Amino acid sequence: MHIDSYFSISNSNFDEAEYVIFGIPYDATQSFRSGSRFAPNAIREASWNLESYSLYFDFDLSYAKIFDAGNINTDCSFEEIIHRTSDFLTRKEFFPVALGGEHTVSYACVKDLRDFCYLTFDAHLDLRNEFDGNKFNHACTVRRVYEKYETGEVERIVQIGVRSGTSEEREFARRRGIEIYYSWDILEGGIDWILKRLEPYDRIYISLDMDVFDPAFAPGVSAPEPFGLHPIHFLRLIDEISDRIVGFDVVEVIPDGEKITQMLAAKIVGEVISAVHSSI
Ligand code: MN
Ligand code: MN
Repeated sequence: MHIDSYFSISNSNFDEAEYVIFGIPYDATQSFRSGSRFAPNAIREASWNLESYSLYFDFDLSYAKIFDAGNINTDCSFEEIIHRTSDFLTRKEFFPVALGGEHTVSYACVKDLRDFCYLTFDAHLDLRNEFDGNKFNHACTVRRVYEKYETGEVERIVQIGVRSGTSEEREFARRRGIEIYYSWDILEGGIDWILKRLEPYDRIYISLDMDVFDPAFAPGVSAPEPFGLHPIHFLRLIDEISDRIVGFDVVEVIPDGEKITQMLAAKIVGEVISAVHSSI
């Protein structure tokens, strides 16, 4: 057995697991740089460099029941991936930790979810209605989730760390009640002031597009964007809302040669589970 074929903190089986890690290695629409289909396994490999004890949360992950279920088979259309993902997510109750893949896979993860705030960390607005003639493109992820907001299935959409998009996307967000927090405001004033805006929501799903971080911290992403967040901003925020997080995905990692980006993603997976479990 290769030790890097599953996540280092996987210590349970599917039936007993409270936290299930799974990969969706799909990157068919990635335009600038592709390769995020290799991310789930690269993040797993990097995870073997992690301690199971989180100093930040004073929590040892061996006390949480965690299972790495492997990857969803993505050798099919995106519509079929949505179907396979929702099949998997409805098999039993668990806290899902999805490893992308491009950002599009986040839509598959929340498709059947109701009554939650969709909180994205992303450099980009991802609000285009379609891109390259495709509605299920990584640049359209939040727009697809917005359709669930229109029907009342999503309570609110909040985007943190934004610093790239079109004026049409910005205007769309402004008119349709999508909340945007720009990276420069967070870099100057920290992230704690945003907590107040999240107070109304009891159930928060987090989608982490790794390009929200500055390329200095996460060089291995599909669309690197300067002026990004520090990973500590993310950690601070999840610490404060940890009792309300209902699911998590980390997307858009393109494994880099120095293993910096996949290491950060693996570390964050451990910290998210530590945050959620130590808040129970
Ligand atoms: Mn994105
Ligand atoms: Mn992005």
